[in-house]
Amino acid sequence: MPIKTFSIHGHFYQPPREDPLTGIIPDEPGAAPYNNWNERILDECYLPNARLNNFQKISFNVGPTLFSWLEGQDPHTYGEILSQDQANYGRYGVGNAIAQAYNHTILPLASSSDKRIQIKWGIADFIHRFGHTPQGMWLPKTAVDYEVLSLLANQGIEYTILAPWQADEDGLDPTAPYRVLLPGGNSIVAFFYNRDLSTRISFTADATANADQFAIDELYPIYQRTSADNPADQFILVVSDGELYGHHQPFRELFLSHLLDGASAAAGLRSSYPGLWLKTHTVEQTIGIRERTSWSCHHGVARWTGECACTPHDGRWKSTLRYSLNRLAAALDSLYFESVYPWITKPRSLRERYIHVMLGEMKAERLVSELAARTLTSQQMRQVLLLLESQRERQRIFTSCGWFFEDFDRIEPKNVITYAAQAVRLAHLATGDDLAPQTRSDLHHVVSPVTGLRADQVFTQQLERQWEPQID
Ligand SMILES: [Zn+2]
Repeated sequence: MPIKTFSIHGHFYQPPREDPLTGIIPDEPGAAPYNNWNERILDECYLPNARLNNFQKISFNVGPTLFSWLEGQDPHTYGEILSQDQANYGRYGVGNAIAQAYNHTILPLASSSDKRIQIKWGIADFIHRFGHTPQGMWLPKTAVDYEVLSLLANQGIEYTILAPWQADEDGLDPTAPYRVLLPGGNSIVAFFYNRDLSTRISFTADATANADQFAIDELYPIYQRTSADNPADQFILVVSDGELYGHHQPFRELFLSHLLDGASAAAGLRSSYPGLWLKTHTVEQTIGIRERTSWSCHHGVARWTGECACTPHDGRWKSTLRYSLNRLAAALDSLYFESVYPWITKPRSLRERYIHVMLGEMKAERLVSELAARTLTSQQMRQVLLLLESQRERQRIFTSCGWFFEDFDRIEPKNVITYAAQAVRLAHLATGDDLAPQTRSDLHHVVSPVTGLRADQVFTQQLERQWEPQID
């Protein structure tokens, strides 16, 4: 008997709203009676789903920046989520959690070295938390190109999840994953999610009102339509934001729990997750991908670079913002490499391994000393440490949330400007070179179409705040 298997994947993520100078999330009145949206979503979604053991039964990823907040805010729920993956890992040798590229950067828009950093940081973060290597990686907004897939495969990642329209052929077999062949003879598995059902659970509340009906009326028929002459096992993947279950739609954590605990089995379906499926099935079908595509913009990745119909306002501020921050990133890199080259033999490696300092696994001085060509003076050490902190902020400026919404005058785009100001401040402290004038004149052209607020105003305001680096 061929087995009819399905997996629900939840992408758990929130835009980072912490003030980068204080690490504190400002009060968000819309989230009342909670102080901010993270706290509210914790109560409506992360906590109840952890209590119901749902994280053990779905496939999921939690964005590293959200995980880091959760770890501090609610260590119990955080620990529950980890242990629910670890239970599967202990039992089957493969976990159901997957990693995510670190800062939620739209990777096809990033430089090659940024893609590498984001992927390596995401893997290191995952290992730090879950205690084992990840098999899969979630790409922010599922945005993809061949270079990204090659980097994933080179880092030992076996699979990723994509939207069906990201395949370069129509008429996909919706019941099995595909192998994507990569330059150099490597390959990676792509699980394409079921488009209709993923859309329905996300946007039609009625579809998830009753788990028994969902299993029989929505899920089961997908197999019947596609398996008439096909004796093989089938795997169907349904994907949404994880916050759907309890936050976007109240009580859907209960729907999820019942679907996975009884309703699907009663309908003759088995719930699983991609890593476990790959353990017992080979992936034979091959396919190519459409580069520079994503799951939440039907215009490629235009949503994060300029105007597209996803955000109907005048979106010209987005392209100017991206241009300005690309220029700033290049200038920050020049300062970093010029400054550390005399002392550090592998500055790229230092930057990539800085994640272990960010995660608290090692002291920054120890990492720098390991990669230093000779013993550094305390002044030189301080310079390198400030530049590494500047590079950390430089990665944050490409957080996709800065471009996702229709207007510049809201917290997410203003936060990327705050990160930019902080990167400039740190680089200035380290080297004496001030990138502020150039950045300010670039950002002058980033204007909110709604309120007229300009990015250079936000930048200047941030630079004028009093702040002292916490570096020994
Ligand atoms: Zn779009």
